[in-house]
Amino acid sequence: MSYKCIACGEVIDSLPFGAVRCPSCASKVLSKLRDPIAKTIKAE
Ligand SMILES: [Zn+2]
Repeated sequence: MSYKCIACGEVIDSLPFGAVRCPSCASKVLSKLRDPIAKTIKAE
């Protein structure tokens, strides 16, 4: 699960449990990023 800081836009790959805070600006407002579902469909 990745997070994105709302304040500065920093993307955090992983956070220690219980420490939801941006390492760059110390903001506690992070949004969860879902891994994009990469679909590769080949029509052959
Ligand atoms: Zn930040």
